[in-house]
Amino acid sequence: MLLTAVREANLTDAAKIIPPRRVLLIVRGVVQGVGFRPFVYRLAREESLGGFIGNDTNGVLIEVEGAPGSIERFLHRLRGEAPALARIDSVATREIPARGETSFQIVASEVRGAVATGIPADAATCVDCLRELLDAKDRRYRYAFLNCTNCGPRFTITRRIPYDRPQTSMAKFKMCKACQAEYDDPANRRFHAQPNACRECGPRLWLVDGAGAPIDCDDAVEETIERLVGGAILAIKGIGGFHLACDATSETAVGRLRERKRRYGKPLAVMVRDVDAARELTELGSEEEALLTAFARPIVLVRRRGDGVIAPSVAPGVPWLGVFLPYAPLQHLLFADARVRALVMTSANLSEEPIAIDNEECLARLAGIADAFLLHDREILQRCDDSVTAVVDGAPQILRRARGFVPLSVPLPIDAPPLLAVGGHLKNAFALARGRLVYQSQHLGDLENLTGLNFFRESLDHLMRTFEVAPEAVVHDMHPGYLSTTLAREWAAERNLRVIAVQHHHAHIAGCMAEHGLEGPVIGLSLDGTGYGTDGKIWGGEVLIARLDGFKRFAHLEYVPMPGGEKAIREPWRMALGALHAARCDIESEEVLRAVGVKAQDARVVKQMIARGVNTPGTSSLGRLFDAVASVVLGRGAVDYEAQAAIELEGVAVGQDDRLRNHAYVPELWEGDDSLILKTEYLWKTLIEDLKRGVCRERISAEFHAGVAEGFIKAASNARQNTGINQVALSGGCMHNRRLARLLRVGLEEEGFTVYQHRQVSPGDAGLSYGQAVIAAAILARR
Ligand SMILES: [Zn+2]
Ligand SMILES: [Zn+2]
Repeated sequence: MLLTAVREANLTDAAKIIPPRRVLLIVRGVVQGVGFRPFVYRLAREESLGGFIGNDTNGVLIEVEGAPGSIERFLHRLRGEAPALARIDSVATREIPARGETSFQIVASEVRGAVATGIPADAATCVDCLRELLDAKDRRYRYAFLNCTNCGPRFTITRRIPYDRPQTSMAKFKMCKACQAEYDDPANRRFHAQPNACRECGPRLWLVDGAGAPIDCDDAVEETIERLVGGAILAIKGIGGFHLACDATSETAVGRLRERKRRYGKPLAVMVRDVDAARELTELGSEEEALLTAFARPIVLVRRRGDGVIAPSVAPGVPWLGVFLPYAPLQHLLFADARVRALVMTSANLSEEPIAIDNEECLARLAGIADAFLLHDREILQRCDDSVTAVVDGAPQILRRARGFVPLSVPLPIDAPPLLAVGGHLKNAFALARGRLVYQSQHLGDLENLTGLNFFRESLDHLMRTFEVAPEAVVHDMHPGYLSTTLAREWAAERNLRVIAVQHHHAHIAGCMAEHGLEGPVIGLSLDGTGYGTDGKIWGGEVLIARLDGFKRFAHLEYVPMPGGEKAIREPWRMALGALHAARCDIESEEVLRAVGVKAQDARVVKQMIARGVNTPGTSSLGRLFDAVASVVLGRGAVDYEAQAAIELEGVAVGQDDRLRNHAYVPELWEGDDSLILKTEYLWKTLIEDLKRGVCRERISAEFHAGVAEGFIKAASNARQNTGINQVALSGGCMHNRRLARLLRVGLEEEGFTVYQHRQVSPGDAGLSYGQAVIAAAILARR
């Protein structure tokens, strides 16, 4: 009894004696627009702490004051219980004098200093909002623009940070009383949800016909569904741009869309209601399901089932289907109708032009393509295509980094001064670097024309403003003919900035190294389509000894003629003749003509071009070797989109075992002048023999994949003997090839190598700017 009383007295005294602490915290990462401030507010109240929280350009600034135990718990819970969309990169704390403050507040945003916080990426509709959307008693029932702090558009509606409503395209919508009350209530899920809106006060939808005249209907969504079910093509304004949509189960509708969009071969993405629906169409693995349901809701390339539900012309010639799930309330409304099973949802543009975002622009550009347009009045400030992902060798890989992933930063292993890296030519995305972070732009498409260049400039201005990066140097690819090179030089000259040119395949490897925090040296297998080499030839089957700031070419595929230059990329039969000629086959022989499927006259012309060296550069590209083999094995003489032949060649091998039965398919290592050469003469001779003997194309493709992998593994082993390096980085566009990626990784590991592959950044040209940035940072750090 007495003892207890004493203890209680002591405790009370202790509480009196231990003075309150006050701690200042700066939290960096993705902490704006993701419900972070209301979360901290609730946490502080629960722990009886005083102080405040505010957004600023450094992230969020917090001061908390109270009992030391409460502060400890607060710090612990801050990391452990943060909202789903938040990403805490760092928390800096400092003790400051207590002020006797006992209540906690959220203070208005301040804009100052260098920006280190991220704008959040756009996030898919959360389960709470989805429930309200479909609840007839909810005030937001069937309202296509509902969102909360856990979901909704972010990057695509933001002009600059800090991420507050006046800086977004929601600025013009004044919240009604009910919405404002939610916005102001710290206990509400919509507390400071910047795009908060309802039918009373927010954006609205309407439908117009192909000529832009309003369509009179009670419910624009219902009318849209009727038309889609009836086989029409609709342009639908979404989050990062317009989609062209049609019924994916109707061959007529899909055929019409292809015809009008002038896009014939390239597979189209299909949106389905939910995971179960995706499972019915594809052989969905657990990694793929995780990607499919991530907040970013990317398109995921998955093995399709052959059940015939999806129209054949959706994805002709490949065993995969690009599937994704609804991520905006409007899309959920479309799929709420049982008649809507699967929709083709493709970027509203002509091939490789930037996606359309503006109502007027869309009506003009898609006249004659869309039968009707479903429009809304919330402006899209940043074009952003759907992201594309796949599971490659058991791990997720980003093929196209856009909506849902942009503008999240990727770390750098070394400090970078402010830099602009402009990327390459195809599938372009630039990068801004500063300190230990790289901000990669959204996918910009091919930089081949003025529209592409304008999108580049528009996006560059936006990201520079957003992250307040003022580049001190500009990095570009060594290729003198790329538009991105011209742009980089002009842009730098106008600002009197330093320019750094980087070799294409070095950039690929450096990117892979940087993702894993490696500074090298490593053995880099840069297996790719096209890249300009230091000798002016076209590289792409490269074994490099690479550091971040330089490389040596250790081995490469032998140079073969590329008759017609760029034309040989679109017409693989030319590559086949070039490769067979290099393999010392007579390309005018009956045997070769039959194998490649060309006329004697075409072969004669090509032979003359090679003999005279007319428009016939030499290439060591592995991508081109794939094209050539696909041309011979599949009869794919011309392609509709980049890498189509190689993708189809990978496709036919699906289901074949990996084993290499005929070792003649392995490229042979020869001593060259200053590097080793991988020769393909016997590979070709064996392949032609096998075709003649009637070996099936599925088996030949599998042998070819296994042989190529084996050849490069041998080259890597040779490099290890020479240098003692045991780390191998895999990069280049060919690493999108699942079979090749797996064969290389498994084979290299069996040889005892430590293998590194891309995970956050694309191994293809979409990831090039990240590699360029890290090389420039390393070069600048050296000087
Ligand atoms: Zn929500
Ligand atoms: Zn409202």
